[in-house]
Amino acid sequence: MVKYEFKDFKTVLKVMKYVDSWFWCKYIINCYNGCEHACIYCDTRSFRYYLHQDFGQTVYIKTINGKPIGEALDQRLKKARKLLPDVTIIGSAGDAYQPAEMEYGQTRQILQVLLKHKYPLSILTKSDMIQNDLDLILKIAKASWAAVSFTVTTLNKEINKFLEPGAPSAENRMKCLELINEKYPEIHTGIFIMPIVPYLTDDKETLEEIIRRTKESGSEYILFSGMTMRDFQAIFFMSKLEEKYPELIPKYNNLYNANFCSETANLMKELQDGENIEEKKEKLKSKFKCEYIPKMDYMLKINEIVVELCKKYDIKYRIKERYIPKDYRKLNYKISQFLCDMSYDRQIQGKYYNHLLWAGLNIGNLKESIQNIANRNELKSIKSVGDKIIELINPILEANTKGKTLESFFKKS
Ligand code: SF4
Repeated sequence: MVKYEFKDFKTVLKVMKYVDSWFWCKYIINCYNGCEHACIYCDTRSFRYYLHQDFGQTVYIKTINGKPIGEALDQRLKKARKLLPDVTIIGSAGDAYQPAEMEYGQTRQILQVLLKHKYPLSILTKSDMIQNDLDLILKIAKASWAAVSFTVTTLNKEINKFLEPGAPSAENRMKCLELINEKYPEIHTGIFIMPIVPYLTDDKETLEEIIRRTKESGSEYILFSGMTMRDFQAIFFMSKLEEKYPELIPKYNNLYNANFCSETANLMKELQDGENIEEKKEKLKSKFKCEYIPKMDYMLKINEIVVELCKKYDIKYRIKERYIPKDYRKLNYKISQFLCDMSYDRQIQGKYYNHLLWAGLNIGNLKESIQNIANRNELKSIKSVGDKIIELINPILEANTKGKTLESFFKKS
């Protein structure tokens, strides 16, 4: 039985230093602390994000400095002279549509405020309960921009239940996606295949079924990633894996250069009791080793499979149409996307990509239009922008000066 408790927090809105080059969001809101979907791979369990020991069993309903979450956001946005409307992602660390939403309506409060202030929205969920809010999401889509993405890691019922025990089935999510695409074409939609779980959901058939269904549903994009493993999250996942698929443990130890064994598994159990946490964390860190990402050759193979499948089904593996503001940021965002898309393509092929990424991120953060900077011949004053980047973006700047469409510069797949 999941427990709900109100708990007060200091901030409602996290403002990121750079727009995220994957989700294209600038702001983050999590309405709940804890998540009863209780996915066994959830990285919110790691010490980095670690919410509380009882992550899947106790869900805190957030209030902010004693105020309901919606009121707190409204006040924050009213006073936010330095903030410009930009994509706010909801549910990245605690699903926005977990069952608590039926009773507390935290997410709905947030949607109402985002609509009021014309802030674009990106929602990531594993629940078809989002249907209850499609009226509001549609209004946001019409007023600015809205995207709904479902996470689907597999359509195999048994593995789905094992990985995401508290979430609605992947099949329900797919049906909900089809409904949104049919009735609300103004809302951008896609599927996040995140994480691709080694040896359970990484085979071509599993990936192809998700990608084919996403395309058939009329959605625009797939986003995918391998599975990261970090301290407590890794050991929690491997303990669950050992219960159901013990034969996979040696393979995981090899893939992540890890040392999961009965001794480290016991540490996980100790840590869960919630006492002397700091001491136990240190003990875990000193005894349990695990790389953050799988071995590179494995990841490159997975990337290749997904990219090939996306090409086969003619669906993008990046968000197709990011939010483009109408103010001075318009061209900056397009050029930023152009560079970040290129960077991503290099990244998934194992090539050096940081120069493109940082140039893209810095251009996305400019406080005036890049066209003005180019007109003053000062492009090199932008951080990370050198001759090679200028060579790449000059054709876009020239096309823009001549009033031409810029679509030809963006990714086809
Ligand atoms: S739905 Fe997301 S936040 Fe919730 S447990 Fe699963 S992975 Fe974690």
